[in-house]
Amino acid sequence: MANKGLTFKGGIHPPHFKKQTEHLSIEEAKKPKVVVIPLQQHIGAPCDPLVKIRDYVKVGQKIGEAKAFVSAPIHSSVSGTVKKIETRQSSNGMKAKCIVIESDDRFEVHESVKPKGQIESLTKEEILGIIKEAGLTGMGGAGFPTHVKLSPPKDKPMDTIILNGAECEPYLTADHRMMIENPDLVVTGAKAIMKAVGVSKCYIAIEENKPDAIEVINNNIANEKDIEVATLVTKYPQGDEKRLINAVTGREVPSGGLPMDVGVVVNNVGTAATIGKVIKTGMPVVERVLTVTGSAIKEPKNLLVKIGTSFEEIIEQCGGFSEEPGKIISGGPMMGIAQYTTDVPVIKGTSGILVLNKKDAERPEPENCIRCGKCVNICPVNLQPLMISRLSLLGRFDEAEGYNALDCIECGSCSFVCPSKRPLVDSIRVAKREIIAKRRKASK
Ligand code: SF4
Ligand code: SF4
Repeated sequence: MANKGLTFKGGIHPPHFKKQTEHLSIEEAKKPKVVVIPLQQHIGAPCDPLVKIRDYVKVGQKIGEAKAFVSAPIHSSVSGTVKKIETRQSSNGMKAKCIVIESDDRFEVHESVKPKGQIESLTKEEILGIIKEAGLTGMGGAGFPTHVKLSPPKDKPMDTIILNGAECEPYLTADHRMMIENPDLVVTGAKAIMKAVGVSKCYIAIEENKPDAIEVINNNIANEKDIEVATLVTKYPQGDEKRLINAVTGREVPSGGLPMDVGVVVNNVGTAATIGKVIKTGMPVVERVLTVTGSAIKEPKNLLVKIGTSFEEIIEQCGGFSEEPGKIISGGPMMGIAQYTTDVPVIKGTSGILVLNKKDAERPEPENCIRCGKCVNICPVNLQPLMISRLSLLGRFDEAEGYNALDCIECGSCSFVCPSKRPLVDSIRVAKREIIAKRRKASK
């Protein structure tokens, strides 16, 4: 396929709101005095703590063991003393057991942290082991353990890797800055992923509203014949895995299927850059880049933040609130998670902290559906959002299932275009939850 002007059917064009931060270099955030590190920052089983209260820990030391295959270990982002191990609210919307560490401000690095060598000299199994032990999870926000994604079953032959640099969520610019400032790490990560999966073709997919990133990445892959930039039309939700696969390869992941069903593995560019960094330095995932922005943030920034730092501390470093906040979100406005307190930690999947003022956070009163069909026309999954939403509101979840409610990717595009301002995605989410709960009950 051509590698320019790629896109998918449906989708929307929300305002980008990226101007505030897209030209701001990544700054290192102030070192936190205390970090709160949840033992579950990923999809899958939570970790077991490896430390006790009063233990001394160092940067990069493993403090949470992942016993299940679908899980990822947790490491300390500071050196200091474990003060508490208790259940707290996390920024992914769940309560999780957390390790609270008071920093000694020395940032002493653990002895286990050592460069991993050149990709050429590492075997596929060694690369997978490094990724697993470093606690890599999808840095785009999904939080799926990376080593699992890179280990498809033998009966699923893979031929393509796509690095997702679309960053189609409004406001967020962390991936954009990462591609401009650390293209070498993105490319190293791409090579490691290709070797781990045993695939010789990789596309780095970037929306055309980031021409500077496209140029920098192209310069960095000038000698890499198997890595190519795929330029995407700027459209939401272009970064959704299945939309991305369709845009770049023309393949359709079947309903209920996974990217591996069509021979593709998708990873976020931030995940690839982190893999590159882990191989180069040996340091596991103890920090990440995120965008702090929105109409109620005084000084928006792209920051490199230690995992476990509180949202409150990060917002303070950005000058605090410029006016009374109406909504605080972890991630972007379309798929992010609303926060009810700023006393929650940055975790591996925190791509941004978005603070909207009261006016921007306002949700108008919904009116009756006028059957205009706009939600149906733009749904990237070809669903009928108005029908699923209606059946969900009536409690007729079995019928909603018949309309393929579970295929909804919760992108929010239908709610965005609805002239009656109906909260479509909220009611569809309820239907999905009920259908999944019923299936679980039936399988017991
Ligand atoms: S029904 Fe789901 S997938 Fe379709 S537009 Fe709405 S939120 Fe997106
Ligand atoms: S976009 Fe809104 S008003 Fe139009 S059909 Fe869908 S739910 Fe009804």
